[in-house]
Amino acid sequence: MSSSRVLVLNSGSSSVKYQLLDMRDGSRLAVGLVERIGEETSRLKHTPLATGESREWTGAMADHEAALKAVSEELTRDGLGLDSPELAAIGHRVVHGGKLFTEPTVIDDAVLAEIERLIPVAPLHNPANLTGIRTAQALRPDLPQVAVFDTAFHTTMPESAARYAIDVKTADEHRIRRYGFHGTSHAYVSRATAELLGKDPSDVNVIVLHLGNGASASAVEGGRCVDTSMGLTPLEGLVMGTRSGDMDPAVIFHLMRVGGMSTDEIDTLLNKKSGLIGLCGDNDMREIRRRIDEGDEQAQLAFDIYIHRLKKYIGAYYAVLGRVDAVAFTAGVGENASPVREAAVAGLEALGLAVDSELNAVRSDEPRLISPESARVAVAVVPTDEELEIATQTYALVNGSRNLT
Ligand code: AMP
Repeated sequence: MSSSRVLVLNSGSSSVKYQLLDMRDGSRLAVGLVERIGEETSRLKHTPLATGESREWTGAMADHEAALKAVSEELTRDGLGLDSPELAAIGHRVVHGGKLFTEPTVIDDAVLAEIERLIPVAPLHNPANLTGIRTAQALRPDLPQVAVFDTAFHTTMPESAARYAIDVKTADEHRIRRYGFHGTSHAYVSRATAELLGKDPSDVNVIVLHLGNGASASAVEGGRCVDTSMGLTPLEGLVMGTRSGDMDPAVIFHLMRVGGMSTDEIDTLLNKKSGLIGLCGDNDMREIRRRIDEGDEQAQLAFDIYIHRLKKYIGAYYAVLGRVDAVAFTAGVGENASPVREAAVAGLEALGLAVDSELNAVRSDEPRLISPESARVAVAVVPTDEELEIATQTYALVNGSRNLT
């Protein structure tokens, strides 16, 4: 039997999310999550899809090695062990691939060294990703391990979009440029949107709005990213659950000089205590909508600021692309919050953008159009699937072919 399984690992500093997929049809065999690694109360939740019955385990897991061993044992209990010859590869989500990694890449020592070299621009994410890779390598040294980079899809951005207008020498010395993130989602959703329209991705221009707790927009021209809203780090761009997004950088100098805040305090303020949570105390769009329905003005203002920024990006990317075939909403907010979709597009009829209220209200896990038939630009809801995209890219690379779904 040929190897058709791919394990996808998303390793955070104290967590590992994983999915085992069968790449003959892209179906899930098992999904799970280990949290609070390194604490006394580490928690593993594992679900084999054959039964759908989750198993949970709580106890001390000292490190990622212990976590992956526990995952491996759970998979073995389901007859899906990592020692199975059916496992073709392990695909790792790696947040920062810099300028160099434009494609998924089979991991060797040189690749590991480069991911390590990028730690200064991704201090929170790349070390955790590296730990996950090294642990998986120790578990199955014979197996191809593939890095799929969050930044790769955005490496096609022209210099005019990727560079900040700062001193070139300083920028180059410190590798300061706009890299963009959520790339696997933007790649997947832009392709799935073309499919929904019955067109080849190379013929379609799409604005992708990935609205989760983190949020980013991208302008995708004929399947290639030409601009995206996140920058050197995921802090730039849209208003997010806890991040400010775009802001005059002088706010930081002001907070230092006048507010007496330290670099770390400002980092925490802008990444963890800003955005929706900073504006109204909640970062869950469901809760914000509930408060708005009760007449809460603070929640309303947070929503309005969120929508105003979103609209600005739709307009900006419309101008960047010149011709837009579709606007696609995805991720937790984009897939579920119909009021966000309606408000983001409201008043943009002159750009050919409109939402049909009835279609917009439909709840579904399937990609779907929510614009009226007569609209010049399709507005779509396209559920993202980053794990399937990572598995697809991983499998294609180790199999030497590109296509699966
Ligand atoms: P993600 O980061 O893609 O998992 O998205 C998480 C966010 O999606 C949450 O913080 C919520 O704000 C939002 N979300 C999830 N479900 C809903 C829903 N039914 N309605 C509105 N927002 C939702």
